[in-house]
Order: sequence, then C-alpha cells, then structure tokens
Amino acid sequence: MAKERLYLFDTTLRDGAQTNGVDFTLADKLAIAAMLDELGVDYVEGGYPGANATDTELFARDREFNTTFTAFGMTRRPGRSASNDPGLAALLEAKADAICFVAKSWDYHVRVALETTEEENIASIRDSVRAAKQRGPEVLLDCEHFFDGYKANPQFALACAKAAYDEGARWIVLCDTNGGTLPHEVETIVSEVVKTIPGSHIGIHAHNDTEQAVANSLAAVRAGARQIQGTLNGLGERCGNANLVSIIPTLKLKSEFSERFDIGVSDAQLKKLAQVSHALDERLNRAPNRNAPYVGESAFATKAGIHASAIAKDPATYEHVLPETIGNKRKVLVSEQAGKSNVLAELERIGIKADKDDPRIGRLLEIVKEREAIGYAYESAGASFELLARRTLGKVPNYFDVNQFDVNVEQRNNAKGERVTVTMAVVKVKVGDDNMISAAEGNGPVNALDLALRKDLGKYQKYIAGLKLIDYRVRILNSGTEAVTRVLIESEDETGERWITIGVSPNIIDASFQALMDSIIYKLVKSDAPA
Ligand SMILES: [Zn+2]
Repeated sequence: MAKERLYLFDTTLRDGAQTNGVDFTLADKLAIAAMLDELGVDYVEGGYPGANATDTELFARDREFNTTFTAFGMTRRPGRSASNDPGLAALLEAKADAICFVAKSWDYHVRVALETTEEENIASIRDSVRAAKQRGPEVLLDCEHFFDGYKANPQFALACAKAAYDEGARWIVLCDTNGGTLPHEVETIVSEVVKTIPGSHIGIHAHNDTEQAVANSLAAVRAGARQIQGTLNGLGERCGNANLVSIIPTLKLKSEFSERFDIGVSDAQLKKLAQVSHALDERLNRAPNRNAPYVGESAFATKAGIHASAIAKDPATYEHVLPETIGNKRKVLVSEQAGKSNVLAELERIGIKADKDDPRIGRLLEIVKEREAIGYAYESAGASFELLARRTLGKVPNYFDVNQFDVNVEQRNNAKGERVTVTMAVVKVKVGDDNMISAAEGNGPVNALDLALRKDLGKYQKYIAGLKLIDYRVRILNSGTEAVTRVLIESEDETGERWITIGVSPNIIDASFQALMDSIIYKLVKSDAPA
C-alpha cells in the first residue's frame, strides 16, 4: 500500500528567533537554512520580510535551496484594501517560494486585540490569500489561537480557516499559540476540522507550554493533519515550539507512523540529525542538552553494571531505537576496559601507535577523565587531545618555555580626547639558550597575548609564520562550587588545515593562554620542528 506523505515545516528562523537570547545574523540564517535543506525538511520559514533589516535582506537574495523557502507576514490590515497595505506589499515583493500569512481565528482576539468585526477579519484573510495567489507562490495560513478560538466559537474559527482554503491556500495551519491545549483535545478538534477541510491541507503548529508540543503534533497527525511545524531543538519563545529533532526520528522509526507515512528526510539524512542539532547549539554558543531524546549525549548512555553487560550481549535489551540511525552513539560509562579501547581507537585514528598493555594508556585515560571532570572537552578539541596523548606517551619535545607573561588593559583619553581602551601584552620566552621578550598591542587581552606570543619564537618562527587564529569561543561552566571558563580556539595554517585546542581555568586569560600554547605546539609537532 502506498504511504501517505507528511510534510515538515521548520520555523527555527522565524518563531525560533523569538527565543530569549537568540539573535540570528544574516549569515546564521543562511547557514541554518542550508543545514535544514540538507536534512530534507520540506519548508523553511526564513523570517518576516519588512519587519527588520536582516529578514528584508534575506528575502531580497537569490538562494539555491530545494526546500520551499517561506516568508511570513500578516494579512492585510482591517479597513485597508490589499493593494493599499505597505506591509502586505513588502511580503508580496519578497523572493519566496511560499508565503505564510498569520491571521486571527479566535473571535475574542478579533474584538479585543484587532478591534474589528468578524466579517472584516474573514475578508482580510480572503483578500490577502487572493492577492498572494495572483503573484504565484504557494500560500499558507497560520490560524493564530485556533484551538482556543475553536473552543470559544467553532463556527468562527472554522470560517477563518475555510476562507483561506476556498481562496486556494495550500495549507491551513492550526496553531496552539498559547501552548495550553492537551493532546486529546488536539485530536478531537482536528478530527472535526478535517470534516470541513481535507487533512491533506491541514498543518499543526504547537507550542510547548505543557511540554506536550511533540505529542500534540503527533495527535494532530493521527487525526488527519499532514503538515507539522516545529523548530530545531524546540527553539521558540517561552517554553519553545514543537521539537522537530524529536518529531523526525519518531516519524521515521516508530512503526505507527513509519508504516503509514513518508517524510522528506531519507535514512541517510536522518543519520545527520544529531550533528544538525549540535551544530545549532554550537552556533548559538549553547551547551547541547545532554538528555535530549534521540540526539543527546546521554540518550544512549548506560552506566556500568547489569545494564551494560546486557547491552554488550544485545543492545536492543535497553535501547528503543539504534543510536546510529540518528547519528548518535552508544555509550557505556565506563568500565576500565571500554574506556581503554575508546582511547586506543582514538590513538589509532590520529596515527599514534600504542600497545594496549602499555601502562601509559591507562594513565592517559585517567588524565582525560580527571580533566573532563573539571571542564575540558576533548571531543571538541582534537588537537589538544592529540598533544595530551603524545605528551603522556613521551613524544612531545619541550620546544620553548614561557617564563612570564603580563597583560595590561588600560582605558584612557587619547590625544584627540577620545575614550579608548588599549591592551598590551609582554611575553618572556626561552628558546634553547636564548631569552626573548616580545610585546604587542591588540584589540583585547587575548588578541594581544596571541600576537606577543607568536611575534618571535626564534628558530621556530618560520614554522608558525602561517598560523592564524580563526575562531575563539568562550563558555562559562558552573562545575561544583566555582564557575570556570572554557576557551576553544580554532587555528588554521598556510595549508588550510584547521585544528581546535582547549583551555580551562577560572581565569579567562589563563584558559586562553593554554589554548594558544596548545595551538602553537600542535603546529610545531605537525611540522616536525626539531627539538
Ligand atoms: Zn508560534
């Protein structure tokens, strides 16, 4: 039997942008859209052209996506004609494959918030959908507060939806805007709606205020809806939107859905899901949620003991799906043996030969565990792990010593009487028998320290001449009693090779210094610089 198609609509860049503390740049939006496109999401809602400069610029561009790139905006204002509404005009001008209008569908909101009549609200929907259809793109209508509206006045809520459908809108999206509706209510109400508008034209847009946005989305599908709206990692204002990162694998891996429905995400694309989820957190400079279903670091982690030994016999004993299917990993924490074999595998990957019975392997594992406990994350800093491994195995020469450094930040008036902040670093380095002092000014303490450190390394200078610092990320971790700072530095050399190093300390300059030192030494090791 042919499966029915379910469509995924991502609104990370529009509704997700309402999240407290999230502020997407144009580059962020393009990168996230590209990621969603590669994942196989059918619709990507990019933003609200006309509402802010970033979104206006985004929709002025040509883009090459397979996904239906969608612009969001309001229906015409009450009391205006569609041709005489600048907001609507900006939306219709946007370069978009689809337009998603939002309109009221709760009579109470029409009266109190919009201060207009029910008739005028419906006319505004009809006129706006018609005007958009004439321009060519696909049209969607988000029915704001649909479920609350339906409970208060089902005839009016349905009439709003029906007006858009009759004008040729491809999708009528039922929104649980306040997020307070429960799954059984969603199922009942959607079942009623699909008697008037075919389910193949109905979408669900759920918010997570009772932590049931995913359940509400699935309930709507059970009742006949065929489009699901949501965001990556459940981003969104208040408690967030329905989390597509949980919905996608549920649709792909749970037989109730996978036997009846196809989605645009292939099995191969599903394997990228964990990476997509983590890449979004990385871009937002947030720590990924370890306990996130399917993609979290702990989603398939089991503590040593009877579970672990059962998992070793057959993973299905304690896993509801296979972690590899969504690009995640099984993790058993951590019998000495399992830890050792992880470390050995990692050493082999980076080309360090080691004997499994070498006691130094056990010591390396201990050091990694100790350091990870205080905030180091060697998974994200491969170059620092490699150096740590080489050092523990006694394979890193002592190229140079930094005997002292000093960073000074000063705020003062310059000769023109302007307030300026000047940063200067002085570094004393010993290379062989030579003592050197370098000083540099920078646009901040870490920049000044980096410049001073790399200014003169004597005979090693030629090896690091092409070294560039290309990214610098800081995260404050609260581990135990005091906050510590974790710094990740990404470097690049003249060959284009990139590597990441890490430093952790209560002091941000110390943490940065560790990461800078690792980066330089990694480059010397990689270049086979003589000891
Ligand atoms: Zn919303």
